[in-house]
Order: sequence, then structure tokens, then C-alpha cells
Amino acid sequence: MKWGLIGASTIAAEHVIGAIRAQNGNSVEAVLSSSRERGAAYAERHRIVRAETDLDSLLSSPVIDAVYISTTNEKHRDQALAAIAAGKHVLCEKPLAMSVADARAMVHAAARKGVVFATNHHLRCAGTHRAAKAAIAEGRIGKVLSMRVFHAVLLPKHLRGWRIDNPDAGGGVIPDITVHDADTVRFYLDEDPERVVAQAVSSGLGQGVEDSVMSVWTMPSGVMVQSHESFTHPFAGSGLEVHGTEGSIFARNVMTQQPKGTVTLVNASGETELPYDSGNLYDYALAAFNRAVSGTGRPAADGVDGVKSLAVAMAVRQSAHEGRAVDVNYEGM
Ligand code: NDP
Repeated sequence: MKWGLIGASTIAAEHVIGAIRAQNGNSVEAVLSSSRERGAAYAERHRIVRAETDLDSLLSSPVIDAVYISTTNEKHRDQALAAIAAGKHVLCEKPLAMSVADARAMVHAAARKGVVFATNHHLRCAGTHRAAKAAIAEGRIGKVLSMRVFHAVLLPKHLRGWRIDNPDAGGGVIPDITVHDADTVRFYLDEDPERVVAQAVSSGLGQGVEDSVMSVWTMPSGVMVQSHESFTHPFAGSGLEVHGTEGSIFARNVMTQQPKGTVTLVNASGETELPYDSGNLYDYALAAFNRAVSGTGRPAADGVDGVKSLAVAMAVRQSAHEGRAVDVNYEGM
């Protein structure tokens, strides 16, 4: 599969270009940047054959089979719709769009065109989370009662651009991190939050956007979910706990892009460290995407997952702004 990168981004440089190249027969053919100079420098730095500044020119290349969209969030929708119209398979960054209705339109367009459309939710690709989910599915903690997500981190200095001061580009911790936690909770529990209550603040980094949020989610099964995301916590550590009638799972330092952390099962027999696959998260996502394109599998997170995680995040933001409980609107998905 030959890829075009839409966006000369940090995430592509740090994780996704390598993950594409780790797949048999995959290569990066071109990168699109709005700046000729930055695009050319990026292409040279990452050994990419062509740098483009015109989306149509990149998409009209018959060589390119798939695109990876990692521009700022407000650009995802139009770039994805153009790529789909050109018949390219699409791996799109989260949040898929600035509204749930737009994200839904992207998923419907891909279905009509018959191309693969996936969302790059990396956390469900981590061996830690897959091991914890498997333990729950095997009944090792009994009936699940509650889940707590701790994802308050310190935003690295090199990422303190649009994320902390540009709401029009999709800045703020809710579209950045709450969407990932929504996807992770959905992955663990195999159900979609119905209603949320949230409070958000700016605690030192956010200018015109929230940089910290806490929320509580109502699940159809009655499982209680609590979630905390922030850009301003240097030493909080990340993690996730799932508590059941027969045991608890404590996953520490697992809300990360790296294949690391610990997963501990605690029950009447004592404490057990769960072994997990320590493969690269993005390699896992790209391998699943390849299987989806070849018709032998599904993306790790598909377009519907992207719509639903965005819907939860949007409800969290609305609840924080309006100071009331908000029903999650999945726009019929
Ligand atoms: P970046 O800020 O690195 O890149 C976003 C855009 O900013 C690029 O497309 C580029 O525009 C522009 N840009 C990059 N560097 C510069 C610069 N030095 N000067 C001016 N403009 C610049 O964003 P991220 O890589 O952090 O995030 C991109 C997307 O990926 C977002 O949607 C984000 O939510 C998502 N993301 C997902 C992660 C995951 O694990 N799933 C992790 C991190 C981010 P141009 O292309 O026009 O050159």
C-alpha cells in the first residue's frame, strides 16, 4: 500500500511514518503541507519522495492507495471527504471533525464509496489495555461495577501550540484527550455512554480553551465511569482502574503512546501482574488497517468508533459549559 500523508505533523514524524514503513509492502510516497518550505524540509528529513502543497494534486496521483490525515482538527473533514471522493482509503486522526454531524458524514461518504475509513485511536491497540479487557471478558473480576480513568499529564512543550490557544483549530484537552478516553472506555465495556456530567477549567496552560476536565458518565449497563484529563499535571501519572464484584484491575502508566505500564489483577487470591504484548501501538493499528484494506479484517478503531468518541467528548464539553447533565448525541450512529 502506498500512502500520502496529509499534514506535516509531529504525530506522523514521531509514530505513524515508522508504523507505515513497518508494514510489509507499505511506503510513504508524498506529504502535503500548507507551506512549501516546511513540506520540503519534512520530506527530506523523513525520506519522503514528494512534498505537495495542493491536496487535489496529491489525491489525483494514481500511485497513492491510502492517506493518513494528521492536520489540525478543523481540516480533517474536508480533507477526508476529498480523499474519499478520490477513492483513497483513509486513516484519520482523532477527533474526526469539529462536530459529530460532520464526522458522521465522513463515515457515510466512505461507506458509499467503498473505501476503508479508520480512526487513529491508539490506546485500544496497547497490549496493556487488550490484556485488561481480556481478563474482564474471562470473568476474572466478576461483574463490572465501575471504571476510573486518570489521564492528567503535562503537555510536552513542543505540543503547546494550537492545542492550548486555538479553539478554531480544535484546541483544548477535551477534543485532545477526552476523545481517547471515551474510545478506551467504550473498548473496555463494549457499550456507549448515555449521559455525562462534567466540569472543566483552565489551570495554567489553556488560553481560551479548557486544559483540565473531570466527568462522570452514565452507561446503559449501570457501570459507573469517572474520567479526568488534563494538560497541566507533571507528576500525576496516568492509569485506569476497573472494579468488579470479584476483583479489580489496576493499570498504571498505560494512557500513553508507548507500549509500557503495568496491569495488576487484585482478587481474593492476591495480586497478579498480567503479562501483555509489548508491541508498538501504531504498528498494531497500521497492521489492522492493512488487513481491512485487503478484506481480511477490520480497523482497530473504525469510523463509527471515531464518531462515538467525538460524541462523548462533545457532550462532556457541553456539560461543562452549561453546568448540567447532557445526553450524548450520537446523531443516529
Ligand atoms: P502538529 O501541530 O505537529 O501538526 C499539525 C499541523 O500543524 C501540521 O499539519 C502542520 O501544517 C502544522 N505545523 C506543524 N509544525 C509546524 C510549524 N513548525 N509551524 C507551523 N505549522 C506547523 O500536530 P500533532 O501532530 O500534534 O497533531 C496532529 C493531529 O494528530 C491532531 O488531529 C491531533 O489530535 C492528532 N494526534 C493524535 C495522536 C494519537 O496518538 N492518535 C497523538 C497526537 C496527535 P502543514 O501540514 O500545513 O505543514
